[in-house]
Amino acid sequence: ETAAGNPSDEGKEAGLPMAIRGARLDIVGLDMAYGDFKVLRGVSLQAEAGTITCVIGPSGSGKSTLLRCLNRLAEPVSGDIRLDGQSVLGMKPDLLRRRVGMVFQQFNLFPDHTAIGNVELALREVQGLSTAESRRIAEERLAEVGLATRMNHRPIDLSGGQQQRVAIARALALKPELMLFDEVTSALDPELVKGVLNLMARLGKSGMTMVVVTHEMNFARRVADQVVFMDEGRVVEAGSPDAIFDNPQSPRLQRFLSEML
Ligand code: ADP
Ligand code: MG
Repeated sequence: ETAAGNPSDEGKEAGLPMAIRGARLDIVGLDMAYGDFKVLRGVSLQAEAGTITCVIGPSGSGKSTLLRCLNRLAEPVSGDIRLDGQSVLGMKPDLLRRRVGMVFQQFNLFPDHTAIGNVELALREVQGLSTAESRRIAEERLAEVGLATRMNHRPIDLSGGQQQRVAIARALALKPELMLFDEVTSALDPELVKGVLNLMARLGKSGMTMVVVTHEMNFARRVADQVVFMDEGRVVEAGSPDAIFDNPQSPRLQRFLSEML
């Protein structure tokens, strides 16, 4: 946190006044392969609008591939993905990506742009907004993630946690109906994880539909509406946090949890 200055704003609470209306998500029998290698095998899950689904499972189980299919960074072989009942597989990928935001483990910020520059760029290029309008919205979104005093810093002058919150603000600025998070705290120093998780928990209360791939079992237990356990390309078990963590049914989930906790 030294490069970024005041460590006390790392987990600072800020309001999220933007009203967000998340979409209902239905994934039906999704299959995906890299060549002959089947990565997803009949994955189905449903998420009600405005809920948080946490996806857990061992490395290589297909979690990232599932998220990538949801915004068409990867194309499934068969099955369907619907947002509010509308199949996304017939949509143009660039139109879909205005509706589905994604945040990655590596923040993927443009290093030569400031925090606000990164958010503005997305608004101008994806939504075609004017310079003035994109600046106004970018300021609002950055303030909401607790970065009002860091807007003119470049990524290198921000902590990892602050960079990740810029990436979240950038995705939020496009008003997605669905937000995807792929191990977004895995690259962070331990003391910076909490601020990002707190932001995600607050986002989850704002009406957004979220699918969160995470190794943070305490976060999943505390904020998830449902937890989905994947192994070898399949959904092995899905249920409430209490059911998954306190009463796991399958030996594979029992073994996974005993190794994680
Ligand atoms: P997870 O996110 O759960 O660790 P991934 O979805 O990244 O799993 O990967 C699932 C499987 O697909 C892994 O066995 C991985 O090696 C394989 N895989 C991922 N991306 C590619 C790719 N571009 N080409 C070939 N195989 C891949
Ligand atoms: Mg992954």
